[in-house]
Amino acid sequence: MNLVQPFPRTLNFTIALFILLIVVSPLGFVADAQRRGTRGRNQTRRGNDAPLRAGIDVDPLQTSRSNAEIRRMLAEIDRRNIERIVRRLVAFGTRNTLSAQDNPTRGIGAARDYLYSEFTQIAQSSRGRLTVEKQTFEQPAAPPPQGRVPRPTMITNVVATLRGSQPASADRVYVVSGHYDSMCTSPTDAECDAPGANDDASGTAAVVEMARVMSKREFEATVIFMAVAGEEQGLLGATYFAEQAKQRGMNIEAMFTNDIVGNTVGGNGVQDRRTVRVFSEGVPSNETTQEAATRRSVGGENDSSARQLARFIKDVGERYVPEARVQIIYRRDRYGRGGDHIPFLERGFAAVRFTEPNEDYRHQHQNVRTENGIAYGDLPQFVDYGYIATVARINAAALASLALAPARPKGVSIVTGQLTNDTEIRWTANTEPDLAGYEIVWRETSAPLWTNSRAVGNVTSFTMRGMSKDNYFFGVRSVDRQGNRSPVSYPRPVSRTAR
Ligand SMILES: [Zn+2]
Repeated sequence: MNLVQPFPRTLNFTIALFILLIVVSPLGFVADAQRRGTRGRNQTRRGNDAPLRAGIDVDPLQTSRSNAEIRRMLAEIDRRNIERIVRRLVAFGTRNTLSAQDNPTRGIGAARDYLYSEFTQIAQSSRGRLTVEKQTFEQPAAPPPQGRVPRPTMITNVVATLRGSQPASADRVYVVSGHYDSMCTSPTDAECDAPGANDDASGTAAVVEMARVMSKREFEATVIFMAVAGEEQGLLGATYFAEQAKQRGMNIEAMFTNDIVGNTVGGNGVQDRRTVRVFSEGVPSNETTQEAATRRSVGGENDSSARQLARFIKDVGERYVPEARVQIIYRRDRYGRGGDHIPFLERGFAAVRFTEPNEDYRHQHQNVRTENGIAYGDLPQFVDYGYIATVARINAAALASLALAPARPKGVSIVTGQLTNDTEIRWTANTEPDLAGYEIVWRETSAPLWTNSRAVGNVTSFTMRGMSKDNYFFGVRSVDRQGNRSPVSYPRPVSRTAR
């Protein structure tokens, strides 16, 4: 089934009727999981009779049900909605962060109020499970040439929260964002037209559309859909949110920014409608001196939590959206550019950036004009709405899989106390009631992606006999009874006595 092509309307109706007839709970995943929970627990008890048996009791029927519900959700993502939102945002003339905050038709204030009302409408059909708020703060002046804020400026992030349904997981948060501010050639020109159709109405529209389809369903962990401002002024909205989150101890397990996800014909002439780049850093932005010393000693520069997140997105995204390709880029961001994932990375949260594969710089950060027959400006006619829908599906597949799965294992360590050809890995136990157990994954040290996995049961340590930690990279992921898998946690070395 090609999910990118919208179904004919009659077929849509037939499918909807079919779903209505066969699905007991239209709210999907979690109710199914709870119904099946009893049987899952019984299976685990039987497994405990043979405690050394390596294996995880995963209900294959449940796995396929969850998959089917995610597929139904992805099919609801509608390019026409995305186009409507992008064109509406463009119609505010400019969304420069320094533009009017109180003009109802032009400027960033009008865009802010529009997004708040879009999210609020979505919340009304979510049975109260999606809540919407404006996070407003005053950004102090940072005049040019050092800064891009000539005078103190109020900045507002519009934040919609879909609270997780499982008490053990509801405090675990996944954030997806786009920035709704825009700029023309000069970042401090608040009067010029700055349509910002691709940068970044595309990402903002993708986030709103994800909120619409995901808020009809329940997830065990919490998902935050966010439209931020001040990106072009220096990542200001995202920085404020990330700093507040850090100070409040919010457990953000992953953050995606979607920024420039709407153009499929590059300035190099290449057309590519199937690839999306996922930028992920290798060496963590918040690495400590001690961690750097360990990395120099035994490697790990390709195994940050952001890199594990990128691998997870590629795995899940290409499984659910097989016509798409997730191109992992081993960089924090492009040369000379930055994005809203960076303030999250700097505060220790795993974060990645989604961006189209071939950019056209004539349509970014340009005054709208024609010069020598070339059209400049970030206009809606240069945006491929079907492509944004594809990117939104990859995001939503990954977010849904993350928010349905257990947390990635914590305290994962590789025991280095004595020289041995075996590899002993330890971790702390997860707390989710539907946890089935863990899988050890590994790969050759020169391989980019995890190549092997072994189910090891519901244990907190495991020894890979005859496999030397010197010759492979290892990791651990958690699995629930429905077969939902977490991203991989990469171990830190500890000596046995240090534990
Ligand atoms: Zn941008």
